Amino acid sequence: MESSGGRAESSGRGPRVLVVGSGIAGLGAAQRLCRHPAFPQLRVLEATGRAGGRIRSERGFGGVVELGAHWIHGPSQSNPVFQLAARYQLLGEKDLSEENQQIDTGGHVGLPSVSYGSSGVSVSHELVVEMASLFYSLIDQTREFLHTADAPVPSVGEYLKKEIRRCAAGWMGDEPTRKLKLAILNSFFNVECCVSGTHSMDLVALAPFGEYTVLPGLDCTFPGGYQGLTNCIMASLPEGVIVFNKPVKTIHWNGSFQEALSPGETFPVLVECEDGACFPAHHVIITVPLGFLKEHLDTFFEPPLPTEKAEAIRKIGFGTNNKIFLEFEEPFWEPDCQYIQVVWEDASPLEDVASELRHVWFKKLIGFLVLPSSESVHVLCGFIAGLESEFMETLSDEEVLLSLTQVLRRVTGNARLPAPRSVLRSRWHSAPYTRGSYSYVAVGSTGDDIDLLAQPLPADGAEAQLQMLFAGEATHRTFYSTTHGALLSGWREADRLIALRDPQAQLPGPRL
Ligand SMILES: Cc1cc2nc3c(=O)[nH]c(=O)nc-3n(C[C@H](O)[C@H](O)[C@H](O)COP(=O)(O)OP(=O)(O)OC[C@H]3O[C@@H](n4cnc5c(N)ncnc54)[C@H](O)[C@@H]3O)c2cc1C
Repeated sequence: MESSGGRAESSGRGPRVLVVGSGIAGLGAAQRLCRHPAFPQLRVLEATGRAGGRIRSERGFGGVVELGAHWIHGPSQSNPVFQLAARYQLLGEKDLSEENQQIDTGGHVGLPSVSYGSSGVSVSHELVVEMASLFYSLIDQTREFLHTADAPVPSVGEYLKKEIRRCAAGWMGDEPTRKLKLAILNSFFNVECCVSGTHSMDLVALAPFGEYTVLPGLDCTFPGGYQGLTNCIMASLPEGVIVFNKPVKTIHWNGSFQEALSPGETFPVLVECEDGACFPAHHVIITVPLGFLKEHLDTFFEPPLPTEKAEAIRKIGFGTNNKIFLEFEEPFWEPDCQYIQVVWEDASPLEDVASELRHVWFKKLIGFLVLPSSESVHVLCGFIAGLESEFMETLSDEEVLLSLTQVLRRVTGNARLPAPRSVLRSRWHSAPYTRGSYSYVAVGSTGDDIDLLAQPLPADGAEAQLQMLFAGEATHRTFYSTTHGALLSGWREADRLIALRDPQAQLPGPRL
């Protein structure tokens, strides 16, 4: 195979390192390595034409629209994304305040400002508060099963349903109220599917669920867009380090590769791109999303990965959560409204009704967040997870707009509610280099699978150490699915390489 020439090809200038993917994990690793003198020969290969990966801010509706990551979860001193964002001066004053950093939400989504029922009547806020309290106390109870071998049921969903069934048996009151309570709970299940990036909470493993760690701080957003953060990291890298539009096809490892420009030198890894370009390397940090790895497992590694590693990739969950932005001429919500919940009154978490997706996909939508508005721009952001979300990706903008207009007219009881002016949405499942939104610990897997995925290869042999290193959100055992988990994983692998090549190096530690 012919290798690609270019920058920093000469031998004897330290190891050649490739980072595959320029999301926050890849950028974080690259920034760390670039600051160390032992790594002048570094390149980041990115499949698409932009950096940031699942951090993706676009101009829209007179401001910034986040198609990917939305909040810093737990913005406080122990969150490296918060620290970095603060250092780059990307956050608002309130978000930086001590007070904000100390708020403990337990990781739960805030209460809706208003809850619309599918019969066109608002649902009692009191009832919603009561059901939210029940639902989140059950979610908190799942921690009891952490590190126990005898979880009562395999999944979070089954546990929640078992407990809800038990509680419901003691509910006083009439049948319609009982049904409504279950319908409200169903809406919280939909929220939790978005949080976990899964189709159903029945797919999320119960015992390891509590291992996901919530940091203190009231979730905050980036006033100028999340991508400002990855842009700042990118700007700190030497020019030309990132090669865009270079999708990697196969990583050949455990080999002995040579290139014309470095006679006599051999490299254990050769990274082959879809366009035929080949990059020999001593070390490769792989940060591609788990969804991509799952889809290309059979062809992405040559020789194939060891069985346990491949199994971990198959077992860990990776699902879809998408956003649908609707822009309105005029707001139909109250000025202080932040979150509009939609409750389908015939739905219950205790009953499975099989229906064709095209007739029911929109019932998985949790409702809408109200985005900060200006005088002329009024935008709602809907969240939808699972197979319904993936189905939504196959529809046209017009079809989505029409369906959601009908939903809003129905739940507000206003048949003449003006249709949104425009729609914009993410399509993370169709994105060929992502294939979903984020990872979760699926039934049949544990945190050990995440650690296994994170282990470098080959696992043995001091001779050819650290050929392939693995980073990305899905490789962080306690912060998976987040930007801070991804960033920490990139730093972890950069530090691993630094420790190998410069054992005397003073590593900055897990923070900054
Ligand atoms: C809708 C949505 C909402 C979210 N909300 C939040 C939130 O509010 N807060 C939060 O903390 N997290 C959130 N997340 C999760 C967060 O965005 C991710 O965990 C994080 O950005 C992942 O970073 P990463 O570097 O691991 O992967 P990515 O950002 O996916 O980066 C991987 C990179 O690899 C590239 N790549 C893939 N295949 C190849 C290949 N073959 N060759 C070369 N390059 C390749 C991709 O193009 C991509 O640029 C959200 C995600 C989504 C989708």
